[in-house]
Amino acid sequence: MSTSITITGSGTPLMEPGRAGPGVLLRYQGTAIQFDCGRATTLRLTEAGQDLTTLAALAITHHHSDHLVGLADLLMSRWLEADRSELLDPLPVLVPDGPGSRLVGTVLDPWQEEIAMRTAHVGYTSSPDPAVRPFPAPATPSVVFRLDGLSVEAASVRHEPVIPAVGYRVTTPDATVVISGDTTICQEMEDLASGADILVHEAFRTSAVWGGLLSDPKAIAAYHSDTVQLGGLAQRAGVGTLVLTHLIPSPRTEADKEAYMADIRAGGYKGKVLVADDLDSITV
Ligand SMILES: [Zn+2]
Ligand SMILES: [Zn+2]
Repeated sequence: MSTSITITGSGTPLMEPGRAGPGVLLRYQGTAIQFDCGRATTLRLTEAGQDLTTLAALAITHHHSDHLVGLADLLMSRWLEADRSELLDPLPVLVPDGPGSRLVGTVLDPWQEEIAMRTAHVGYTSSPDPAVRPFPAPATPSVVFRLDGLSVEAASVRHEPVIPAVGYRVTTPDATVVISGDTTICQEMEDLASGADILVHEAFRTSAVWGGLLSDPKAIAAYHSDTVQLGGLAQRAGVGTLVLTHLIPSPRTEADKEAYMADIRAGGYKGKVLVADDLDSITV
């Protein structure tokens, strides 16, 4: 009886050795739900010991490519992993209505000839196509998925000009886990994170980025979460453990990680903090 999260990717759109694209795997007993599907998510799921065919659902936060670029790989690999005689249910993909849901619905279109060829050659009885479950991005937390005592709520966060963008709040019988997706520091995110045992949140070190690491730091800073302000949000929300991911810039040394930690403490957060590496895992 325990709830765990595993970071399947702590990276960003920019290539960084050792850091896959954004993603979080949540497991409660036999139920596993993946949040976002970035570069190399499928490989990381396998490294985390997750059977792709038993994933209960995938939930997407928004349609930026770094959160979706691994989707075709996940769907095709899951299909190929299933025994050909096994009837594989389509993977439910929860996604806010809009460009993201349109992309999920057509992501395998370019692969249909390949799928037909494999099906004829090997005799697959199922299809890799997902079961798209679009929902209108809600202003306040609303349930979008329920299974085996676990519920998933979505709520809009602030990542303009990317609309819609949502965060997720998962409640199991023993824990509450919140996943921010990409967002600025905002009241919507603070409300969603209220009282969470674990908050997995994107992190942007404004002071480091202003040193010239990005070509246009202003535009990037405008829709991400400054780490000092994030320390304040996590403290006000009463979060048990704060997990920093989607790390901009990527920490490469222990000193870099300590700088993230110092920002969070400067913002006032007194709870546990993890500056995530891929495959880091926490059990409540
Ligand atoms: Zn984004
Ligand atoms: Zn992103």
